[in-house]
Amino acid sequence: MKYYITVVLSTLLTISSFSQTKQSPKINNDKPKLVVGVVVDQMRYDYLTRFWDQYGEKGFKRMIAEGYNFKNNHFNYIPTYTAPGHTSVFTGTTPKYHGIISNSWYDKFSKQYVYCTSDDEVQPVGTLNSAGKMSPNRMLATTISDENRLFTQMRGKTIGIALKDRGAILPAGHTANAAYWFHGQDEGNWITSNYYMDELPKWVTEFNISGKKLDYMKTWEPLRKIETYAESGIDENLFETGFKGKNAATFPYNLENLSKENGGYDMLKVTPFGNSLTADFAIAAIDGEDLGKDEFTDILSVSFSSTDYIGHNFGVNSKEVEDAYLRLDQDLGRLLGALDEKVGKGNYVLFLTADHGGGDVPTYLTSVKIPSGYFDDVQFEEDLKGFLKEKYKREDLLESVSNDQVFFDYRVVQEAEIVREELEKSIAHYILQYPKVSNVYTRQQLESGEFKNGTAGLIQNGYNQKRSGDVVYVLDQAVISYTTTTGSTHGSGFSYDTHAPLIFFGKNIPHGETAVRSEIVDIAPTISVLLGISFPNSSTGTPLKAILEKKN
Ligand code: ZN
Ligand code: ZN
Ligand code: ZN
Repeated sequence: MKYYITVVLSTLLTISSFSQTKQSPKINNDKPKLVVGVVVDQMRYDYLTRFWDQYGEKGFKRMIAEGYNFKNNHFNYIPTYTAPGHTSVFTGTTPKYHGIISNSWYDKFSKQYVYCTSDDEVQPVGTLNSAGKMSPNRMLATTISDENRLFTQMRGKTIGIALKDRGAILPAGHTANAAYWFHGQDEGNWITSNYYMDELPKWVTEFNISGKKLDYMKTWEPLRKIETYAESGIDENLFETGFKGKNAATFPYNLENLSKENGGYDMLKVTPFGNSLTADFAIAAIDGEDLGKDEFTDILSVSFSSTDYIGHNFGVNSKEVEDAYLRLDQDLGRLLGALDEKVGKGNYVLFLTADHGGGDVPTYLTSVKIPSGYFDDVQFEEDLKGFLKEKYKREDLLESVSNDQVFFDYRVVQEAEIVREELEKSIAHYILQYPKVSNVYTRQQLESGEFKNGTAGLIQNGYNQKRSGDVVYVLDQAVISYTTTTGSTHGSGFSYDTHAPLIFFGKNIPHGETAVRSEIVDIAPTISVLLGISFPNSSTGTPLKAILEKKN
């Protein structure tokens, strides 16, 4: 008995002395004041490595020298387009759940084509043009920014910025204080809609009249001597589109002269100056919106759209793309410098990724013996309808063939007493015989189980049961449907479109790199863990252990 009491007493003493010396653990008291999510539109992972030697010390090289580089980061769904890409980065999920199945798609409920962010219920602000009638109304999920707003009782701010409306609106989410995008033509202004506010804040109006846009309507010449641009093809080649009013797609490009025939201020988008203007505007927003100033974490998303327009116009192997990345590197350096100065070194976290990659121009690949080609959407639809007419004696079974999907008219299918699953099968069989098609999946297949890997898994992650079509097909490697045989595009599930950079940088981010695979949907839940806030409501990603687990 005496022995027992001694043991109990000493145990109690041990416990109490232990609890006195051990500090109560802190949970996320050490948050960044600002999270900056940078998306570079159409940035392939290998742009980091290909142009590495030519980058300066303040942009990409600084992020990698101080931050963490995920070298094997991929999109995990098809189609890899801008709107699904931006949405997936910030919602931590795929079109299957967030519902942004493409940039534009056939909406079988309203029986019309819809644009991802168009909204007839809202009014433009900063312009009278319908370019301002935009909101995140079609996005079904919450973004990381929404969760931060909910968590902070709306005291943490969210601002989204991009030349493209969808690049600004979708990352910023439903509860954003503002999303700003660029309206070109003869206006050249940053605009928004009354989804967010009734008039532009003073700092935006001042920026719009500051004359910056005019300064950029200059001549686009290579930043450095073109002879030093060794990581791209020759300037004059058969694989570039170029601008109206200039015969060859070669430097220099005089914007003052060419802009009249190329959309006025819209021409800025197709030059690196569009990215510079975006960086200028983002830096102005840090002050204008008081970002990173108080104890409530703010979220700023900045998407650089010009790299995508330039890739589409000149192709991923062009001198123009090489120049665009050398200049973007400088713009990123300026943005980091401004964040250091205004928010403070070590007070913010920045991540950089892309919304999709981009493929080499098929005519170029063919010229170097790599299998590639073009798919004629119009001819395909005509052939498919011809097949259905012969087999079913009807010309009205389909409502739409778009985004590599076939949409049935269910009313007609029922009225014709055709079993839907049979129609799916016979169309799938026909499409699989069609040249340049590699895979076909039917609604029934996609609804009958979960595919974890491979093409079927990618399709299923991009397949929204309500919004998507009834038969989905996949084109062969390096085969694209495109209006010209010049310039690059994206959209596939192949590595040139799925492999995107992912760098984390800033407060509490360790230095390092990994070749372990990560996925684009991992970004948002990683930010959730960093901030100690809820995951976006449909998040399917996994927080990235490599930067979150502190070694004691
Ligand atoms: Zn894009
Ligand atoms: Zn060129
Ligand atoms: Zn694009």
